[in-house]
Amino acid sequence: MTSSSLPPKNLAPKNLNPQNLDPEKMDLQKMDLGHDDDLVVPFRIERAEASGRLVRLGPAINEILTLHAYPEKVSQVIGQALLLVAMFGSMIKDRQGNENPELDHIERFILQTQSDGAINLLVADYVHPGHLRGYARFDADRLASLDEESLASQLLGKGHLAMTIDRGPDTDRYQGIVSLDNEGPHAGLSGAANHYFEQSEQLPTFIQLSMARHFDAQQKDSEAGSDGWHWRGGALMVQKLTSVGGHKSDIPDAQSSDHESEEDSWNRINILSQSLKDHELLDPLLASPDLLYRLYHEDGVRIFDSQKITAACSCSTQSVTRMLKAFSAPEQQEMVEGDGKIHITCEFCNRTYELEPPASS
Ligand SMILES: [Zn+2]
Repeated sequence: MTSSSLPPKNLAPKNLNPQNLDPEKMDLQKMDLGHDDDLVVPFRIERAEASGRLVRLGPAINEILTLHAYPEKVSQVIGQALLLVAMFGSMIKDRQGNENPELDHIERFILQTQSDGAINLLVADYVHPGHLRGYARFDADRLASLDEESLASQLLGKGHLAMTIDRGPDTDRYQGIVSLDNEGPHAGLSGAANHYFEQSEQLPTFIQLSMARHFDAQQKDSEAGSDGWHWRGGALMVQKLTSVGGHKSDIPDAQSSDHESEEDSWNRINILSQSLKDHELLDPLLASPDLLYRLYHEDGVRIFDSQKITAACSCSTQSVTRMLKAFSAPEQQEMVEGDGKIHITCEFCNRTYELEPPASS
């Protein structure tokens, strides 16, 4: 694995720059997204010089979380990581800037935490276009011993969060790392992501992540084996397009007369964004354009082509074989089981691969 530790700004979501936004702009009122689940919707708030992403995940996130069947608290946190990964991953494209079926040209956005909490490792990734997966490792006994009070501080605990963009085997990886706090303004995954933007870009950013299980009596009756409960996730990110405060003095005309009003308009957008309730973000009956219009209509909100999200794992016999080759022949021999094969289970999708061991010398 080639990993170069470059300044975190390398992870800056390029599409947040207005020049990079998809030219196919559409008026909000004219949008018809049809089915509104499993989408990332980029938008721009015209009069406030802010842009953002709205993520609404239904069947895709439910499929990933149901597959793992982790305890509910673990599913909640993995769900938040999946929302972040969908949000940030959908901002990258392959090297040609379009969809490419060749694995080597696919770009991947990886979020990984390592911390001292009951959940000590969490990995979620996004492979262009729109493929999402994730898993967690946790201490079940410790998780069970956490009460309501200790849950917030000890579920993830303290550690760090790494966000990596992988552009393929023959290119450098770009990685940004921020600390993961268990209290204070940067606590939790959304706090760490916020902290990242504050540090790297100095762009004011608002991030909200919501996860919940919904009950659907119809689903319970119509789907064999379903208990009717399913996971939904929603996320909102809004970011100011120009810096305020620290960076201003570097920019010519920094003392422009509308400086104050620019900050005022961001403050208003921030307050409007904070007014969004979890149940609105998660409501399958509240369409994304309606939600955005409800929040920002006074400032003129435009939305752009959305990215469809699906639950999918990119593991394959080739990728697992490549991983196995990182071990020496004696190490591989030690992995051989009773049937004379090496069994490797993908932690993302639980699929088990049966591989031939190296010829013993
Ligand atoms: Zn897999």
